[in-house]
Amino acid sequence: QEDQFKKVLSHAKEYGYVFQSSEIYDGLSAVYDYAQNGVELKKNIRNYWWKAMVQMHENIVGIDASILMHPTTWKASGHVDAFNDPLIDNKDSKKRYRADVLVEDYCAKIEAKIDKEVAKAAKRFGDAFNKEEFISTNGRVLGYQEKIDTILSRLAKSLENEDLADVKALIEELEIADPLTGSKNWTEVKQFNLMFGTQLGASADSAMQVYLRPETAQGIFVNFLNVQKTGRMKIPFGIAQTGKAFRNEIVARQFIFRMREFEQMEMQFFVKPGTQKEWYEKWKETRLKWHLSLGMGADNYRFHDHEKLAHYADAAADIEFKFPFGFKELEGIHSRTDFDLKAHEEFSGKKLQYFDPEENKNYVPYVVETSIGLDRMFLAVFSNSLQEEELENGTTRTVLKLPAVLAPTKAAILPLVKKDGLPEIARKIVDDLKWDFNVSYDDKDAVGRRYRRQDAAGTPFCITVDHDTLEDNTVTIRHRDTMEQKRVKIEELSNIINQEVNV
Ligand code: ATP
Repeated sequence: QEDQFKKVLSHAKEYGYVFQSSEIYDGLSAVYDYAQNGVELKKNIRNYWWKAMVQMHENIVGIDASILMHPTTWKASGHVDAFNDPLIDNKDSKKRYRADVLVEDYCAKIEAKIDKEVAKAAKRFGDAFNKEEFISTNGRVLGYQEKIDTILSRLAKSLENEDLADVKALIEELEIADPLTGSKNWTEVKQFNLMFGTQLGASADSAMQVYLRPETAQGIFVNFLNVQKTGRMKIPFGIAQTGKAFRNEIVARQFIFRMREFEQMEMQFFVKPGTQKEWYEKWKETRLKWHLSLGMGADNYRFHDHEKLAHYADAAADIEFKFPFGFKELEGIHSRTDFDLKAHEEFSGKKLQYFDPEENKNYVPYVVETSIGLDRMFLAVFSNSLQEEELENGTTRTVLKLPAVLAPTKAAILPLVKKDGLPEIARKIVDDLKWDFNVSYDDKDAVGRRYRRQDAAGTPFCITVDHDTLEDNTVTIRHRDTMEQKRVKIEELSNIINQEVNV
């Protein structure tokens, strides 16, 4: 697993997908830049989401709200008072950690022991092995499970009651050590607000403390009535948005899974009070279908229903994805009740109500939201696509099997040799196709090496121009995933590519 993650990191850099931010100054922790291919993949994911959410839904419209908002927004939303992580420092190493993550990592180690028991038993019993039955009856596994449950429920309770002393006590009782140095010399646990603050205005006394938004959702809530009125929207309806969000996360080495500056793709769906459960279920299903439509394997997704709910929610679930470091949250679906709109009514003194012509009355709508991190989705797609294949001739190839619809470059056009008029024909194909697709031209090295280069960069098609082309206007089109090659007419290229990349 660790190995696969390392490969993902180095491949992302080597093939121009993701660079460390300000790398020449040794980077900035948990901040990254998207490179020439990364920016295309990211844009394609964003478009794929936007198309499914906005273009395909008559009752969903988009907005693009600002990153800076009036600071009272964050009082109303609860972020000023409650958007905290419990932090603990190690006195010897001076390293800072999230106290809850230390405890969760400890539990993950116990979980790994369960996996080991399961694997052992599976080997012993062969075909007769029933995993569910084993997990629910084996004494050792049950013991591990009980230990995990006890620890996690105590952690949840202490955090809920703001009993930070007990969080520290738990870390000490479990004898959790600094993962880097092994030291067990901990400070007190302290709450730390995740919002980045900055100053608005130039002069010291008139400057106003503002925040970089920690989520895009609030930009939608404060615009709810403007959009509803000007768009003549009828409930149920949704407002969608993609954009940057900022959180001063305490993290180490999670690449673009957890960043300090990241992008969210969110949709807030406004519904009649009392119907939220129904819509919550509907959006859970719709969003999972969206993920599955990319063909990255149904086994790689699972729902995680939350038992412990945030202060604003009456139901919440994550869609988890199997990242190289295990199943982790990729998207959240939350039934947020009328918490946000009511809070904004209270803090702004303005009504944020909808007149329902069918009911003939005003009410504050309930909200069901779908919220996915674009960068996290990027990591899901990228890490899942990166594969190493043994070929029949005994060699291996590295191939980035990105879903064609998301691939940065759809086709590479390759003249077999740099003479006899082949480059000119290849250039002409590029000029024809570039109106509809991102395509590239490559004439360096032997054609086999060029194929491998395009495989590793994730290009779904290679189109080779050779001497037969001069005779009959046909070219070879090679599929990245199957490596199958076919002879086709130049005029057919556009249709063939279109079939795979426009879904
Ligand atoms: P986590 O539990 O992983 O911190 P969260 O529950 O705080 O996430 P939400 O506030 O629900 O996340 O945000 C919605 C989505 O935004 C998440 O599902 C995730 O995909 C993405 N996201 C949140 N924080 C980050 C981050 N620091 N870096 C990248 N993506 C993020």
